[in-house]
Amino acid sequence: MTRLWANAWVVTMDDAGSEHASGWLLEEDGVVRAVGGGAEPEPAADARVDLGGAVVTPGLVNTHHHLYQTLTRARAQQADLFAWLRQLYPVWAGIDAEAEYAAARAGLAELMLSGCTTVFDHHYVFPRGRAGLIEAELQAARELGVRLVAARGSMDLGASRGGLPPDELVEEIDAVLADTERLATSLHEPAPGAHVQIAVAPCSPFSVSGRLLEESAALARRLGLPLHTHLAETVEEEAYCRELYGCSPVEYLEGLGWLAADVWCAHCVHLSERDVLRFGETGTGVAHCPTSNLRLGAGVAPVRDLLDAGVRVGLGVDGSASNERGDLFLEVKQALLLARGRGGGGALTAREALRLGTRGGAAVLGRDDLGSLEPGKCADFAVWRTDGLELGGADDLVAALVLSGPHRVDRLVVGGEEVVRGGALVRADESEIARAHRVQAARFAGSPRP
Ligand SMILES: [Zn+2]
Repeated sequence: MTRLWANAWVVTMDDAGSEHASGWLLEEDGVVRAVGGGAEPEPAADARVDLGGAVVTPGLVNTHHHLYQTLTRARAQQADLFAWLRQLYPVWAGIDAEAEYAAARAGLAELMLSGCTTVFDHHYVFPRGRAGLIEAELQAARELGVRLVAARGSMDLGASRGGLPPDELVEEIDAVLADTERLATSLHEPAPGAHVQIAVAPCSPFSVSGRLLEESAALARRLGLPLHTHLAETVEEEAYCRELYGCSPVEYLEGLGWLAADVWCAHCVHLSERDVLRFGETGTGVAHCPTSNLRLGAGVAPVRDLLDAGVRVGLGVDGSASNERGDLFLEVKQALLLARGRGGGGALTAREALRLGTRGGAAVLGRDDLGSLEPGKCADFAVWRTDGLELGGADDLVAALVLSGPHRVDRLVVGGEEVVRGGALVRADESEIARAHRVQAARFAGSPRP
């Protein structure tokens, strides 16, 4: 089955940055066969979809999230990271598979409506005796039709041993590794076009022991899984690591074999010039989470410097308790604004920002089958209407789309299948998801004021 998506401004995100202002995309069985501009290819495809002058971009790729946090928005409103975590850990201890499923459906739906076709989720809260949390996320993703890279996260350094989380939320190392291997063996799809993958993701230097970081890396490398953690998010984390380990968070991770091409780290706000170069030399990736960093007052990551050092950089919405809006296109705009706030008007172009959210995210996840619209890649793309109020007066529709974001996507296509059409989910009812989510969120309700 071939299908021609025609009459669109196609942004390919290939190496040359090719765009076709009067363009089309030919797709066959979920894979891009050809992209071009002007005359449509002969012979005619089995089906033709007229996109009415819309902009087509690769589907956005989210590289850092905690879907369960949709249940606990707008808490600890003025807190920094550590105070925010200390307030929320006991609330999150109530998570179970039913709540996780509702949270994942809501969070994934929100991301899809922002143009996101691949979601990485970092789940690290595993209260004792609660099974099926990762499976609940996967069920939600399969039902909605979005690709999911699910991390089996972990915490083993409780407060009694100098860590930040309460002891009742940490796990034994052997149990973490065994459960990670179980999930990887049963669920991870290694081949191109994978809809479900598993990553290994101990939570952070202040909630995980050095031994678990090392053993997680060894397990991931034995099983061929990507590695992820939080790193260098706040000045408090820096002070914590210097006191406990006698070095910076980046130096600490480097000593444990964690600066490498199969690793990406969330945030990376507080990096020295040397750290930036080491990320580039080692191929370590970064999940830049601009709104979350602003919401928690963490600081501004040196994205321009990272790009200049050849670092793989993608974007993440981060969890919905530190970025209440799970809209990845908004993060594209935020990344642009934040880079310019730090480095001036020339620090990042609109197309560079869009690249971070698409090709950059795919590179961070180690997925060369995603992130651009080129022959042989997955037919994952977002269709953005250009006839609304906010784009009037713009000749450069691609730049205008970024600068006037966020937008609700018109169509979203994952592996050739439309999962959003006319701005609505195809396979599920958004209102029903929102209602079911509120029923579960009520179980986590706290006091209405910080
Ligand atoms: Zn996070």
